[in-house]
Amino acid sequence: MAIGRLRLKKYDYDFPPYRPPSEANSLLLRVTRGCPWNKCTFCSMYKHLAFKRRPLAEIRQDIEAARYFYADSARTVFIGDSNSLVIKTDDFVEILKLLYKSFPHIERVTSYARAKTLYKKPLKDLKRLRDAGLTRLHVGLETGSERLLSAINKGATPAECIEAGRKVKKAGFELSLYILLGLGGEEYWQEHAHETAAVLNQIDPHFIRVRTVQPQPGCQLYDELASGAFVKATPATVLKEQRVLVENLQVTSQYLSDHITNYIPVNGKLPEDKEKMLKVIDEYLSALDDEALQRKFARKNELRQL
Ligand code: SF4
Repeated sequence: MAIGRLRLKKYDYDFPPYRPPSEANSLLLRVTRGCPWNKCTFCSMYKHLAFKRRPLAEIRQDIEAARYFYADSARTVFIGDSNSLVIKTDDFVEILKLLYKSFPHIERVTSYARAKTLYKKPLKDLKRLRDAGLTRLHVGLETGSERLLSAINKGATPAECIEAGRKVKKAGFELSLYILLGLGGEEYWQEHAHETAAVLNQIDPHFIRVRTVQPQPGCQLYDELASGAFVKATPATVLKEQRVLVENLQVTSQYLSDHITNYIPVNGKLPEDKEKMLKVIDEYLSALDDEALQRKFARKNELRQL
C-alpha cells in the first residue's frame, strides 16, 4: 500500500522492493530478502542483496504493525521477495494463518515463485499452501525456447516449466506467467514466439503477462548489449514477434500488457479476443513510420531504473 509505506516505516516495517503492477493496492509482506537464484542474465532486481530468510519473529512483528492500521481495510496481500516458496511449508502455513486471523477481509494472497522451485515442490506441499489461503502465484516463464532459457540462465527447462505450471494449477492456484518480449533479439524472435506459445498452450495459465526486454545497468544482458553480443530486437520485430505469439496461442488465459516497458497495449481474454488483439498489433505495424510513435518507442528503449 503506498500510504502503508508512510505509516509503517515508523515501525521498521520491511517492505519487498518489487511487486507485480496488479498488486499496487496490496498489503506488502516480506518473508525473504533478495533472490535465492539471482543468476538470470536479464535481471538486475536483487543483485545488490544477499539472499536471506527472515526470522518468523520479525514477520510476526510486521503483521502486527500492519494490523494496527489495516485490519479492516486490507483485501489483498502480496508476499515477497522473489521466491517466497523456498521457505519451509510449515512456516508459510503459519504466516498465512496469522494473516487471515489479523486481516479478516482478505480476498487474495499472492507471491512470486520460481518455476524450478515449483517443479521440485511436492504437490501435497502446494496443496497445503493453497488450503491455508495462498491463492495466486506469479511466475517468470520468460520464454518457452530451450535455447533462450539456457542463454538467460533461467535454471529451468521448458519441460520443467510445463510440469511446474500444471502442478500449480492442479493444486488449485491461479497461475500468472510472465513472458519477456524481445528476449530472442533480432536472431531468435521467431523461435521465441513459436516455442513460447507451445509451452503456454500446454500449461494454459490463468494469466499471461508480457513485458519487453529493456536491459538495465547491473545485469549481464546490459553488458552483452553494450558489447554487441546481444542484438536487441527493434520495436517492429517485437511487434511481429508478439503477433506470432498471440496467433499461435490456444489457451483460455487473460492476456495482459500491464508493464511500462511494452511498446503497445495488447490486452484481452483468449480465445474470444484474439482477432481484436491481432488487429491492434496490425494497426501499430502499419503505423511504424509515424514519427510520434517512433519517439514513444525510443522513450521505452531509454527506460532505466525499472
Ligand atoms: S528473474 Fe527472478 S529468478 Fe531470475 S534472478 Fe531475477 S528475481 Fe531471481
